[in-house]
Amino acid sequence: MGIRTSANRDYYKILGVKKKDNAQIIKKKFRALARKHHPDANSGSTAAEEKFKLISEAYEILSDNKKRKEYDRMRSGSGGGASHRQSQRRGPGTRGDDPFDFGRKYQRQEQSNDGPGTSGSQGFEQEPVIDPDLPTRGFDLQFMVDIPLRTACLGGQISYTYDKHVACTNCKQTGKTEDYETCPVCEGNTRVVENVTVDVEIPRGVRDQYTLRTRNLGGAGRNGGPPGDLLIKVCIIQDKRFKRIKNDVWMEMALPEPLAETGGPLEVKALDKVHTIEVEENTLTGEELRIRGAGAYEPWGKKRGDLIIKFRIVPVEETV
Ligand SMILES: [Zn+2]
Repeated sequence: MGIRTSANRDYYKILGVKKKDNAQIIKKKFRALARKHHPDANSGSTAAEEKFKLISEAYEILSDNKKRKEYDRMRSGSGGGASHRQSQRRGPGTRGDDPFDFGRKYQRQEQSNDGPGTSGSQGFEQEPVIDPDLPTRGFDLQFMVDIPLRTACLGGQISYTYDKHVACTNCKQTGKTEDYETCPVCEGNTRVVENVTVDVEIPRGVRDQYTLRTRNLGGAGRNGGPPGDLLIKVCIIQDKRFKRIKNDVWMEMALPEPLAETGGPLEVKALDKVHTIEVEENTLTGEELRIRGAGAYEPWGKKRGDLIIKFRIVPVEETV
């Protein structure tokens, strides 16, 4: 049987768990490792694939009480490593059952500590990574995307191009040709990498570092599993003219001395349109003028903050 040949592999070490660790801990470790070493997350690297196979193999044994028990028995029989010490301590006769019982006790304890609300991870048996034929959800893809301040303030659409896994159409996701040979397009992976461009809606008033999730635009799933999501982390580019503080937008404006003295109308290019403002007589540097509702939208909202213009009086030649 399969495990006989691998009795010299230390599955506990491979998963980074202790012999006494219960099923839940093993599950947790496995999931973390599987995610890290999944070939999809490592752009098909063979080393990652080997590692992933090993992790899966280890988990297959240690997650199955019967297999784990037999594996432990074999390990202690061959007298290697930690299991040897343990079997000596416990003495013959019971050693085969002991690690199992021990683990069970632990599990019970942990479950009672968890209290209600925490998932009992009953659904884990459906976790696809174990069985390559089960439907697997595609990976979420996350990117940081530069967004102009204006778009963040007012909302809008950006076009974004990225690589993602899509289903191979050549083999209809079977990985094989009609002659049962490896599909030459996807090399048996059932999916290929494609460069795609999507329009992403930027909500009004979005804040810096906010992550936008677009469902189903991530990597394709396997075996009919759903695709992952596309996550776009908004990085707002600093603007030369405007600065946003909460929902208000600030700008500095050079005002020629004569106009500052006499006062009069002045055109101001704001975020989305040109406003004509009335400069007061004898305006000084540092004085402000507020245009209500000409600032940024409140996040996802309908109301807008204000635009605040801060004047800087300059000699005429500087404004030319
Ligand atoms: Zn194919």
